[in-house]
Amino acid sequence: MTVKLYDKDAYQRTCEAKVVSCEKINETDYQAVLDQTIFFPEEGGQTPDKGTIGGLEVIDVQIKDEVITHTIKTAGEAPLQAGQTVSCELDWEHRFSNMQQHTGEHIISGIVYKRYGYDNVGFHLSDSIVTMDYNGPISGEDLIAIEEEANRYIFEGRPITTGYPSKEELDALNYRSKKELSGPIRIVQIKDVDICACCAPHVKNTTEVGLLKILDATAYKGGIRISILCGMRALYHYRDCLNRCISISQLTSRPQEEIVAAVEQQKENIGGLQQQIFSLQQCLLKKEAESVDANAENVLLFTENTDTNIIRYQVNEFTAFHPGYCAIFNKNEAGYNFIIGSREKNCNEIGKLLQERLGAKCGGKALMIQGSVTASEEAIKEFF
Ligand SMILES: [Zn+2]
Repeated sequence: MTVKLYDKDAYQRTCEAKVVSCEKINETDYQAVLDQTIFFPEEGGQTPDKGTIGGLEVIDVQIKDEVITHTIKTAGEAPLQAGQTVSCELDWEHRFSNMQQHTGEHIISGIVYKRYGYDNVGFHLSDSIVTMDYNGPISGEDLIAIEEEANRYIFEGRPITTGYPSKEELDALNYRSKKELSGPIRIVQIKDVDICACCAPHVKNTTEVGLLKILDATAYKGGIRISILCGMRALYHYRDCLNRCISISQLTSRPQEEIVAAVEQQKENIGGLQQQIFSLQQCLLKKEAESVDANAENVLLFTENTDTNIIRYQVNEFTAFHPGYCAIFNKNEAGYNFIIGSREKNCNEIGKLLQERLGAKCGGKALMIQGSVTASEEAIKEFF
């Protein structure tokens, strides 16, 4: 069993430890077991601590049967010898952030448990996300109230204590637990907010969480998944959001309070302009269509940057008056996209020839095919 120094003191950033074993697992990585450690392993949905052992980077920490294994990145040579004493150092910023996020989860879970009796049935804490799942729904309004209540507890500076109560003490406690537990049970208490069985490092006072922001909530397996950020992560997120607000404010030349209305207005304007462009393209293609010989059996027309729906409509118009192939080729950045229709001929036949001779890509039915080709206008005319 590895002695878990983080269990007694979550604030211990360095330690000396004796190497129990150190084994090579690939070209550069070794797995080391120490007699004691400050590194919290990947456990309970939380990613492991980072830091160094003997000056070398720790890239993973796992626990199995109470033995904690540290994966160390090396230059390829055996870094540690069994029996040797090594210095360990945590990436404290990373660990403290995890302590803040994790404690934030306890505060929210404690409030949710008190309000609704829901259990926290899932928790994920990595460098990019903090989510927790509850087995029941919570309204948007309630989430706002929960967020405010959580921050009030944070500002009040409630003490957080951990310990291993006796069986009698445990029986008298109404504590949250994610699973059936065996052996000594570690209880984490946030005064008058939450009591929970948990093995991870937490801050010692709610004030240290700094700030808690709920970012998102989605329906999940009949319950709800809530995403939060605490401490500096919440600050960085706020800064990013504010910078985006400032940018949109500058782009729209409107004060920040009005950017949503400004974007809505622009969206409406764009919709109107698209409608106008559509009408103009329709007029233009109709004018071009008028130049086609009314007695021609086949029709071949070239156009540019025209909406596919307009082209399809015009091809259908042509097929009513011209019995042969009616084709419109529309120039775009890559070449041409085209629609060919016919009321008497099989369009798949001309499609096959276009594929063979001009390398076109197309498909459809006998009455109409649609496709694209990179050939020149001359080559297409010659083909027809
Ligand atoms: Zn915890």
